[in-house]
Amino acid sequence: MKKLMAANWKMHKTRAEARDTARDLVGLIADKLPQDREVLLIPAFTALVDVAQSLAGVPGFLTGAQNFYPETHGAFTGEISPAMLADAGATHVLTGHSERRHVLSESDTMVGRKTAFGLGAGLGVILCVGETIKERQASRVAEVLGRQLSAGLADVSEDLAQRLVVAYEPVWAIGTGVTAQTSDILQAHALVRAKLKELLPVGGASVRILYGGSVKPDNAGEIIGLDNVEGVLVGGASLAADSFSRIVLA
Ligand code: PEP
Repeated sequence: MKKLMAANWKMHKTRAEARDTARDLVGLIADKLPQDREVLLIPAFTALVDVAQSLAGVPGFLTGAQNFYPETHGAFTGEISPAMLADAGATHVLTGHSERRHVLSESDTMVGRKTAFGLGAGLGVILCVGETIKERQASRVAEVLGRQLSAGLADVSEDLAQRLVVAYEPVWAIGTGVTAQTSDILQAHALVRAKLKELLPVGGASVRILYGGSVKPDNAGEIIGLDNVEGVLVGGASLAADSFSRIVLA
């Protein structure tokens, strides 16, 4: 299973800035990238074509998008379809990111609709799950992850799940500088793996599980080596090519 090293650039970077960072990353990483790793850059919509073009033909580098609406076309002002993302060069897309759940009020049901629709449209979907600090303090981690995975995968068949990736991102670790303890990551990823096997008895064991939440160059090596961690999803530390290249090669 290849490790997936994903950079979520959120609402940052103009087209020129995204192109420059993509080009710098290729220069820093391409000839050193181990065979068992791939790099996924997830820019804002406006820079998708630029990033996809910058990465075209570079082995091990992929382009992804941050969001979409689960319909093929129609009267959905401000939204974008999976086919439009693919047309712009994206092969992957995020669903259920904590900022969409908690800032944009996306429900578990909507996350489930989007996950099945994106996979059905042929994209690799990275379904993000994770508990808030209140939920962790109330010992509700297993319950929350179980609920988010059950709802997120409600309409996902074994066939569709071949393109599925799950990211465990504790909300309290995203953008805070606080990384989860190794023991917390091991425990949460084991819970996610068990639930995936329950929901997808055939393919659940081979769905990649990423960790996200204040991953930095100095903690990436340890995290990436843990059981049931098949990659990382990185926000802040992925914005600069130097820092993200050190994470990818950690
Ligand atoms: C994220 O946005 O998915 C994320 C993990 O952000 P950060 O690395 O900044 O915590």
